[in-house]
Parts: sequence; C-alpha cells; structure tokens
Amino acid sequence: MSLRRKLAVLADAAKYDASCASSGAKGTRSGSGLGSTEGMGICHSYTPDGRCVSLLKILFTNRCLYDCRFCINRASSDTERAAFTVEEVVRLTMDLYRRNYIEGLFLSSGIVVSEDHTMERLVEVARRLREEERFGGYVHLKIIAGASPELVSLAGRYADRLSCNVELPTAGDLAKLAPEKRAESIEGSMHHAAEEIGARKREKSKKAPPFAPAGQSTQMVVGATPTTDQTILRSASTLYRSHGLRRVYYSAYSPIVHADPGLPRKPVTLLREHRLYQADWLFRFYGFEVDELFEEEQALPLDIDPKLAWALRHPELFPLDLNRAPREQLLRVPGLGARRVDRLLSARRQGRLRADDLRALRVSMPKVAPFVHGLEGAGAHHRVLMRTLRTRVQEKRAEQLELFESCAA
Ligand code: SF4
Repeated sequence: MSLRRKLAVLADAAKYDASCASSGAKGTRSGSGLGSTEGMGICHSYTPDGRCVSLLKILFTNRCLYDCRFCINRASSDTERAAFTVEEVVRLTMDLYRRNYIEGLFLSSGIVVSEDHTMERLVEVARRLREEERFGGYVHLKIIAGASPELVSLAGRYADRLSCNVELPTAGDLAKLAPEKRAESIEGSMHHAAEEIGARKREKSKKAPPFAPAGQSTQMVVGATPTTDQTILRSASTLYRSHGLRRVYYSAYSPIVHADPGLPRKPVTLLREHRLYQADWLFRFYGFEVDELFEEEQALPLDIDPKLAWALRHPELFPLDLNRAPREQLLRVPGLGARRVDRLLSARRQGRLRADDLRALRVSMPKVAPFVHGLEGAGAHHRVLMRTLRTRVQEKRAEQLELFESCAA
C-alpha cells in the first residue's frame, strides 16, 4: 500500500478521537480550499501557553485485537486496514514539519499483538523524533491502557501530552460495549501517568527531564448507551479529581457503517455534546457541583445553557447587587464568564459600577440584566426583565416541543 493511501486511511481512522477536536470538521464556507480541516490528518490543538498548533493526527495502525462495539476499527469491522512503520511516521512528521504544514504530532493506535507491543511502537516514534531528529514540536501520545508502567514512563518523557481513553462513562457501559477493556487497567495507566506528572512538578531541579508537561486528558463516547448526563458528568468529575486530568473530551456517538444492531441508529445531537462541555466548565471553573446542575431529570436541557437553567430554578438567589456580590456569586450570573467577572471586580475597585461600565466591558446586558441590580442607568426593573426572559424561554421550549411532535407524527 502506498504511503499516501496509508495516510488517507489512518488519518481518517484517527478523526474519531476527539482529544484534538477540529480534525474532520466540515467547513462552513463551501468552495474554499484554504483553512479546510477535511484534508488528510491535520487538526488543531492548544498548547499549555494557549497557542493553537496544527498537528498531524494519525493512528499508527487501525488494526485492532479488540472488538469494541462502537468503534469503526474494531476487529469485526470490515473497514480498510493499514499500518505505518516507525520510520514512516517519523519521516512523515519531519517532512510535513519542514514544509511548515504542522507543528506537531498526535499519535494513537489500534492494539496489535499486545498492549506493550503497540505502546512500544508509539514510544519509539516519539523517541526517534526527539533524540535522533531533535524534533522540538508538540507531541501528543495515546497511552494504550494496560501497557506496562515503564512504557508509560517513557512515553511521558518524550510527549508533551498523554491521553488514555476511558472510552465510555461507566464501568457498566464498558462491560456492555467494550468487554475486553477493563476500567481498572485504564485507571491504572492514568494513575501511573498522574503520579509521574505530579512527581515532576514537585521536583525542584530545573535539570530534571520533563514529563508530559501539558498533562493528560481522556475521551469518552456519549450517547452510545442510555447513561444519563448526570452520571457522565459525575464520572468526569471523579476523573478530574483522582487523576488531575487537564481535559475530559466528550464525543457524541455517531453511527458507523455495519454498526452493531444494539447501538442507537441515530447520531447523538452535537448540542448534547456542547451542553456537556458547558457543564464541565461550570464544575471546573465556576464553583458548581455536578448535582446542582440537575433537577429530577438527569439530562441537561438542550434549549438553554446549564447555567441559565440553574439560575431560572433559583429565583430566590437573584437579583445580585453587582457592586457588592462576591466573586463566587458573580460567577453564577448567566452571561458573566470568569474573565469578565475578574474585570468587573477590578473595575469595581475604581468606583461604583454603572450600566455603561458593563457595556464598555462588553458584558451582554440582555443576558445579565435580569439577574442583577444596583446599576445606575440599567433601565427596566429586574422583575420585568426576569418575566420577559421566562416568557422567551417558555416560548422557545413550546416551539421546540411542537417541532419534536410534528417530527414524531
Ligand atoms: S481498542 Fe480502541 S481501536 Fe480497538 S476497537 Fe477498542 S476503541 Fe477501537
């Protein structure tokens, strides 16, 4: 098989990994070639200092011993198979880097021969890039769950970021859809990487070799099982706490060709994925507990964002006085992001805030005004604004309900 064909197959197979999510996304401007993310295997990711980098995103091989039911690369799938050699991945990375097409590599793989055998190949690619080619670009390596701790340690020495996929939100989901995968071995690999990352951070000497300085992340497919949003987010929150993860990526299940008949036939709406990311942000940076974001229903509302939904359920906590409320309360105001809250707090130190100050800070008045008071020049009263907002939300919900009913009919 030609190298070009291998690249086409293995870049396409890698697009299902959401850990660097832009690859394979459809462009919004038809007819433009520039800026397309649909070409072979180039995706974008963010480095710890916030730079956006282009990565060559590929699988080492899409052959796999395992038969995870949701995965296009599972052993029983009749997808076209290919495998790179270590030399090919190194050459490809260096050639694309020298031509200025990429700034780094995202390398994952199906499992061939054994977990250790596969992990060794990934580590060898990274070692050769770093030690023989003196490659200083960004490297994201997948940890093959169950690979020996020594190999995980080596991977962290060469990679900027490591990721070990939990694949599905709960151990029960794994048993159902990926019976050969063990939650304990996935968490064991993550735990080992977390220990090494922590040890390196505590290391005082600057001469100590780095270990995955961009930390580790994971991905879970959502919607392939009936597991609720609440359970998904509880699992994610536990993973953040126990392994110090930088990110949990949620990947909305989308049906694959020759899919297992037990799996949903329709794709999960990307809006659900988006709401999960919003909620994830809320419990990581806005001081929310996962369970606060839910009522009896264990699903996040799709029509409004989870922060607005929470605020509408708690009218007793609003309006807040923008000139007095502490940071943790301001973070809960719909329409105020963490950065805006910090800017408001520093503006507040200069004097009383007025509606014009908020406009100058580019705060969206229609979103924020129903939840705050104490602003001169803010116009309509909180209660009027709140009533208007509720009516708008109810109208939107009724419209959606009508739409769902007409689709179901
Ligand atoms: S181990 Fe990974 S590549 Fe193999 S079938 Fe499971 S999810 Fe797919």
